[in-house]
Amino acid sequence: MEKRDYYEVLGLQKGASEAEIKKAYRQMAKKYHPDVNKAPDAEEKFKEINEAYEVLSDPQKKAKYDQFGHAGMDGAFGQGGFSGGFGDFGDINDIFGSFFGGGSTSRRTSTGPRKGNDRFMQMRIDFMEAIFGKTEEITIEVDEQCSECLGSGAKSKSDIQSCSRCNGSGQVQTQNRTPFGVFMSTSVCPECNGSGKKILHKCPKCNGRGYEHKRVKLEIKIPAGIQSGQQIRVAGKGERGINGGSNGDLYIEVLVGSHPSFVRDGNDIRISIPLSAVDATLGCKVDVPTVYGDVELNIPAGTQHGTQFRLRGKGVKGPRSLGDQYVEVRIEIPSKLSKEEYKLYEKLKEAQGHESAFERFKKSFKN
Ligand SMILES: [Zn+2]
Ligand SMILES: [Zn+2]
Repeated sequence: MEKRDYYEVLGLQKGASEAEIKKAYRQMAKKYHPDVNKAPDAEEKFKEINEAYEVLSDPQKKAKYDQFGHAGMDGAFGQGGFSGGFGDFGDINDIFGSFFGGGSTSRRTSTGPRKGNDRFMQMRIDFMEAIFGKTEEITIEVDEQCSECLGSGAKSKSDIQSCSRCNGSGQVQTQNRTPFGVFMSTSVCPECNGSGKKILHKCPKCNGRGYEHKRVKLEIKIPAGIQSGQQIRVAGKGERGINGGSNGDLYIEVLVGSHPSFVRDGNDIRISIPLSAVDATLGCKVDVPTVYGDVELNIPAGTQHGTQFRLRGKGVKGPRSLGDQYVEVRIEIPSKLSKEEYKLYEKLKEAQGHESAFERFKKSFKN
């Protein structure tokens, strides 16, 4: 098929003015808009019209076209290459919205239901609460969909009508006559505030708002084993939806406090215990604290500083796995001795007939 002349497409003579092109385009686009015109070739014509306008409304492209015709147009406007973004035929307002600089929101997004924004908050719990879980009651203010009208704001279904001012689009076009021509601008319909609807009788429960502002108590179940920074999602307790859309969600970030002795390491728990040099040397039994109570631990004779013992299954019971508790031995050397102890240490030194650890270390340098 031969490509038609762009002026011809818009029903114009060569050399038409900017205002004439605009005017012709508006009339043609209205006439052939696929929502209005059900002829089988309407969509094809509509595309052709838009393509012509794309070129003729752009001074640079127009100059090129005037000089070289279709041959002067680059590939973007070649056969089938037009991609002017008209795949979504919302309604005729969209054309004016996007071409005449008005609010170019499409009908669907301006009046359709939209989910509300999510809300975030933080909650502090202590170390043990994170291990065993807890239920915390919180009070929040939230807009909940009216149970009577289910968010419509109307007393009954028949009370909801399409706004006659904007024909349900939520937007109105105004013509502004200026010395340079007639310009269209789009604005939110003042009659329905953009909802596209007119409510004849308001819902008595919410007075037509469609939602109720409530102070609600929520029981937040914090699962056992939660880690600091994890979030709990409470569905539907975020900000209210728009045009009957559902509420957003509430996310609660849980911050877990620290413990004076236990340290959390995923599902494992670490603790360090002090032992005297004597106990570590001779070995002993100690009752080690765990989050589940004391557990007896056998310290073998000759235990070194920094040695770790594992208490299996004494860590955190997470949703999928059970952690262990690691016990690290910290040898504490006395800085003060009683007279009796001092004497005993002296004796101990004499009894150590063999060379000391330091002498053995020093010897290794002499070779
Ligand atoms: Zn209501
Ligand atoms: Zn309206």
